[in-house]
Amino acid sequence: MLLMADFRNKSQLKDESAAAAHLADKSNELIWFENEDMTNADGPYLSPLLLDSFVLWQNELDKQSFANGWFALYDLSLNFIVSSDHLHMEQHADVRAISDHLAAAVEKSGRAEAYSYGSLYGNALPVMKRSEERPFCVFIYIAAEEAQGQTIAQLCSHHFRSCFYKRFEQLFIKDMISQQQQIEKELVRRDALFQAAKRLYDQIDVSSVLSEMLASLEKLYPTSEVHLYLTQDHLNGDPRVKPLVFKNTAHDLVAKAFLEGRPVNEQDRNGMMRIAMPMTGKQAAYGVLCIKMGSERWDASDLPAFLLLADTAGSAFENAKLYEQSNLLINELRLINELAKRLNQSLRLKEIFQFVTMELLNIFEADHCCVLQLNKEKNQFIVMSSNIPTMSSEHFSPEYGFCGIVHRTKEPLIISDYWNTRVVTSKLMDNTGSRSLIASPILVDGEVAGVILVTHKSPNFFSYDNYKLLQVMSTHIGLAIKNASLHAEVRRMVITDNLTGLHARHYLNEQIQNRQRKDPLGALILVDIDHFKRINDTFGHQVGDRILVQVSNIIRAAIRQGDIAARWGGEELAVYLPGIQAEQAYRIAERIRSHVEKETDPVVTVSCGVSEWTFENEKISVESLFYRADMALYEAKHNGRNRIFVGQAN
Ligand code: GH3
Ligand code: MG
Ligand code: MG
Repeated sequence: MLLMADFRNKSQLKDESAAAAHLADKSNELIWFENEDMTNADGPYLSPLLLDSFVLWQNELDKQSFANGWFALYDLSLNFIVSSDHLHMEQHADVRAISDHLAAAVEKSGRAEAYSYGSLYGNALPVMKRSEERPFCVFIYIAAEEAQGQTIAQLCSHHFRSCFYKRFEQLFIKDMISQQQQIEKELVRRDALFQAAKRLYDQIDVSSVLSEMLASLEKLYPTSEVHLYLTQDHLNGDPRVKPLVFKNTAHDLVAKAFLEGRPVNEQDRNGMMRIAMPMTGKQAAYGVLCIKMGSERWDASDLPAFLLLADTAGSAFENAKLYEQSNLLINELRLINELAKRLNQSLRLKEIFQFVTMELLNIFEADHCCVLQLNKEKNQFIVMSSNIPTMSSEHFSPEYGFCGIVHRTKEPLIISDYWNTRVVTSKLMDNTGSRSLIASPILVDGEVAGVILVTHKSPNFFSYDNYKLLQVMSTHIGLAIKNASLHAEVRRMVITDNLTGLHARHYLNEQIQNRQRKDPLGALILVDIDHFKRINDTFGHQVGDRILVQVSNIIRAAIRQGDIAARWGGEELAVYLPGIQAEQAYRIAERIRSHVEKETDPVVTVSCGVSEWTFENEKISVESLFYRADMALYEAKHNGRNRIFVGQAN
């Protein structure tokens, strides 16, 4: 009602000691709302108000006084509103004709009108508004006698007018109070909404946003049932949060709200209202919020508040999700960065494999990890590192198990439940009772150089993010392996003699030096081919080279792993024997000597000088060891060649 708009303006005066003073001043005048009146906008409310006022007036009237008369009321559109004896009037066509006529006449002239027809006399008056000289209805009195008709009509219309304004004021007050209550209710709700929004934005993890939103709604509508249907997997264990499933879209309120992107509602058989609205952020819609009203009646004016909460929740949910994602990303980057840094610190393959295993177990909180390397010569995958003792050094065909799939596809792999999807048989999964797996190839120059397998005993353990992270990490692992392999290759080249495949002289020196620091003793054999110049002169240098290779191979075959054979000079070879004394070294030299004599073609012989050192020696050095071996070798040459001499200890 417009009266209310007017009232609001006035009520704002309330602050208002000024208004109080104003009222006090005018205490002997009218109360302010007594000046309130009907406006054009109140048109729709006029008929019921007229009817109501008429009834009130009739009740206040001494009915006997006007027993022979009829009263009727018309609005200014000439609609008949009510009469004092409705039934009678309907039957009495004359009465109706007179009153219709009078109403029209008054509406036209704006003044009192009288009219007689047959034995009936009618008087009609415009009932004036109190704020202006304009009528708002026509009051009619019809009687069988003419006397006093006009006076009765006048008195009664005045009485009716005061009854009308009494009702009008009552309605005004009632409306004012209900408006006031509405405002108070709105205020409480806004406050609750504001608090709810604030709490929602305070949450930084997705799960708390969801719980907070549901709690807020239940607080606002305590007897309602609230559910949240989410498109993505963010189920937080709360039974009120469910996945959004598009089953029967036509009948499903929730799916409809999501697909149409707007709130929809329906009333169930018991008249209970269900409202569903999409929960949307700036980037996407995340689900649908659904409320089933309980004993509180659904008030359409609640909808904006409800929408606002869903909107706020959508944005808060999105923020929390983005925050979570950026945290994950930062964490991943940190992990990748650390892994890359640590990987680059080591150029030793074995260390890298072991480090990778331990790191991956940690990062993914996995149960088992296995890193396999593809050995191209043997055409098999070899377990390089694993936290499963029985798997160490196991080897598999390149087609076997999950390694086989990764090898073939060159793609990473995620298995959520091995027990349900047995695409291949896997010894690793079976032996460890694992159900979840992520696997990734280690690619070096685009070729599979190895495979990483990470497992857990629970199904659905690894997320898609885990799978992506492993893929990124294996790229870095691949690079580290390539680096280490290149480094190992360069090192091998540096410490190996090209022609003989024996170690280079500097490597032998380094190794002896190291050993002399750690070991209690050791021995050295120097081997020199006899009359080699003559061989070269007789058969040519190429044959000479071939003999050098033959002698080298004989030496390699005669020594143990851990002994170090090297090409020390042109055709001088040397063998260092850690932890061995001269006596034993002599026997080994003898073995070499006799094999050379028997196996070389063309036949050559060698002379050997042996020396030894023990921790008791005064002076321990590589030079001294070589010097004494060289002296012994000289002795051997001097004494006829093809023999072995042992140098004196210093
Ligand atoms: P001796 O019995 O006293 O050792 O006589 P020798 O002729 O072997 O003398 P020496 O040990 O001094 O000989 C060194 C010769 O070995 C010089 C050179 O012709 C030859 N020689 C050194 N390095 C190579 C090589 O890489 N290939 C070939 N074919 N010959 C080499
Ligand atoms: Mg020589
Ligand atoms: Mg020689």
